Amino acid sequence: MKWYDAVISGAGPAGCSAALSLSRKGYRVLLFDKARFPREKICGDGVTAASTELLEEMGVLELLRQRPGSLNAFTGATFVSPGGAVVQGRILQNGALQGGSYVIARTDLDECLVTRVKEHASITFLDNTEVTGLVMEGDRARGVRTSAGEFSGGVVIAADGAYSPIAKQLDLWNRDKRQQGFAMRAWFSGVEGLGDSIELCYDKAMLPGYGWIFPAGERRANVGVFLLPRFTDQRSTKRLFESFVKENAFAASRLKRAVMEPGTLKSWPLPFGSFAGRRGRGNVLLAGDAGSFIDPITGEGIYYALKTGRYAAEAVAHALERNDESAALSRYEQLWRGEFSTRIYFPGYAFQHFMNNEWFVETFMRYTARKQHRADLLADVVAHNRKRRDLFKLLNPFY
Ligand SMILES: Cc1cc2nc3c(=O)[nH]c(=O)nc-3n(C[C@H](O)[C@H](O)[C@H](O)COP(=O)(O)OP(=O)(O)OC[C@H]3O[C@@H](n4cnc5c(N)ncnc54)[C@H](O)[C@@H]3O)c2cc1C
Repeated sequence: MKWYDAVISGAGPAGCSAALSLSRKGYRVLLFDKARFPREKICGDGVTAASTELLEEMGVLELLRQRPGSLNAFTGATFVSPGGAVVQGRILQNGALQGGSYVIARTDLDECLVTRVKEHASITFLDNTEVTGLVMEGDRARGVRTSAGEFSGGVVIAADGAYSPIAKQLDLWNRDKRQQGFAMRAWFSGVEGLGDSIELCYDKAMLPGYGWIFPAGERRANVGVFLLPRFTDQRSTKRLFESFVKENAFAASRLKRAVMEPGTLKSWPLPFGSFAGRRGRGNVLLAGDAGSFIDPITGEGIYYALKTGRYAAEAVAHALERNDESAALSRYEQLWRGEFSTRIYFPGYAFQHFMNNEWFVETFMRYTARKQHRADLLADVVAHNRKRRDLFKLLNPFY
């Protein structure tokens, strides 16, 4: 049986990022996905500047530029309070990043990721092949069991999304309700008044979640609701989606003559990042949604998938150089915790509580709307273009 340095389950942003990083370091990779590409991924399709920097480095943005209509740039973020106050922030006013922000249909984005993967001779990519679990040898994973048989490798990276069978087998599936989001989205055509801003409506019924309208081309938008089951009953998602579209004054004005594209109304969970729990066991690492890394206040997950895929690759390379597979996990823990724990997750969970209070959200939005530099700061933070802790400046009445 052919031997691989790493076996990766899932070829979404996390799996492709890990495979490309490992291949560039000279390792042999076996990558599986149960789907055939192009395939759909239920998403809001908002890609922040932090993500596009990584996509540019991977050569993926270059491919997207060659597909007319796939990159829908946005330069602002509009926030609407429960009482209807509107905050219009501009992105990249104070931020440090140079990447652009786009709405990109995941069918296109993920197909371009896979196209880059296929160019590398050191990556064997098997699509239409489902990974069903790990093949264990004592405490160590020898490889994976799939719909096409068993395959072996030095290290396994699970990048197979929110329902990862590997995370489940290792009992590392995140079931903590406090760390779960849930979202429903659909595509609409004939949307009125779209500009070059993404729009987030903090509807009273969804706090601390929100409803979104992300412009994606000529009078077309990705529309959805992002809920936190810890605060809002997940079973009412469809009702909240319908009432957002029809009854939220801001959304209803955009969508009054719009038509929902058939078959596009779908929902999916968002596993949030947190400090608790290791993201792997032995020689198995969990990346992207399989490891729970999504931002708990915005729902952004593409950046965390791309970045944890890259961190997993760095950790695997670190371990293989030392001929010690078990060193991968400690290195991986060091890398992701160093970047996300206190900078993203700590302020994220703190803000969830503030944003669950309607009075707070109304006061906060009205205060932010009064000065352009405050609105820009909020847009820049939500667009992942500025440090999360800067949000706390907006709690200072003299800012
Ligand atoms: C409704 C909604 C809206 C969202 N909006 C945004 C947004 O606007 N911006 C943003 O940044 N994030 C958003 N997110 C989060 C984002 O979609 C995810 O965080 C991101 O896709 C995670 O990437 P991933 O590679 O970890 O997993 P995925 O993108 O889920 O990819 C996993 C891959 O694994 C494959 N797979 C699954 N099981 C198996 C198996 N058993 N064997 C083999 N392959 C398997 C799947 O086919 C898939 O290709 C949203 C999420 C939802 C649900």
